[in-house]
Amino acid sequence: IVVRFRQAYCVTEPGAGSDVASIKTRAVKDGDDYVVNGQKMWITNGGKANWYFLLARTNPDPKCSTGKAFTGFIVEADTPGILIGRKEMNMGQRCSDTRGITFEDVRIPKENVLIAEGAGFKIAMGAFDNTRPPVAAGATGLAQRALEEATNYALERKTFGKVIAEHQAVSFLLAEMAMKVELARMAYQRSAWEVDQGRKNTYYASIAKAFAGDIANQVASDAVQVFGGNGFNSEYPVEKLMRDAKIYQIYEGTAQIQRLIIAREHLGRYKK
Ligand SMILES: Cc1cc2nc3c(=O)[nH]c(=O)nc-3n(C[C@H](O)[C@H](O)[C@H](O)COP(=O)(O)OP(=O)(O)OC[C@H]3O[C@@H](n4cnc5c(N)ncnc54)[C@H](O)[C@@H]3O)c2cc1C
Repeated sequence: IVVRFRQAYCVTEPGAGSDVASIKTRAVKDGDDYVVNGQKMWITNGGKANWYFLLARTNPDPKCSTGKAFTGFIVEADTPGILIGRKEMNMGQRCSDTRGITFEDVRIPKENVLIAEGAGFKIAMGAFDNTRPPVAAGATGLAQRALEEATNYALERKTFGKVIAEHQAVSFLLAEMAMKVELARMAYQRSAWEVDQGRKNTYYASIAKAFAGDIANQVASDAVQVFGGNGFNSEYPVEKLMRDAKIYQIYEGTAQIQRLIIAREHLGRYKK
């Protein structure tokens, strides 16, 4: 039996990404349903998912606290009124299906509310504690691949009568890349282990995601450097790795937002 269970997380909008609380998609109670109108953007799996997690504003009062104003819904992708946009052409990770999704008078039964009306913001933010460790793992994997490609190349390519790995500048670059990969791996494993221990891992998840996202970009760029001119060419693998790396500093909370979270969590431990 093939179970088709494909999900997408519909939170970001054209006008609101980092600032989730400023999303405009509205869900209005109407009998036993909610009626949803709004536009989502950059939805990974948007054209593949058969159900969505949707975050919408249910309390129109601008004075209502963020913690109570939003509701999370489970939405069947084939519900009438859902319009799926074209696949976006992105810099990297081009096999990933990213789309805008428009909701026009979409009726969602009240049974599809997650936990309770008003609980949505906490659900949407809480999900990151579980999703940032695997995203950090993906970034680490990319960096590992870049290191392997660069190392193999450095052991074959010759200049000035020896393989470039024997030039200290190149071997030290490989050493720096190896340090970053190993530390990123330890960071995401720590953040995932905290989940396994049943502990709140927000601090570790943001550290892992921020660090792995940054080093994936540094290591991929260094791999291009080791390849010289060939690194700049799409016939070699590292050009793609450099393009693929960039998104790790943007989705699941940007590099800047991770630092805001780390600072908040860190200072929170010291404040009396
Ligand atoms: C390929 C791809 C896939 C995605 N998949 C999904 C998905 O499946 N579901 C989903 O809901 N979203 C998804 N996103 C959206 C993604 O999470 C957002 O793009 C991201 O959170 C940043 O939001 P933004 O693009 O609106 O940038 P903005 O929030 O406008 O930020 C612009 C810049 O300002 C900086 N910035 C913003 N606020 C601050 C601040 N307070 N302090 C310091 N710097 C700040 C940011 O770090 C960034 O550098 C995806 C995006 C892409 C590109």
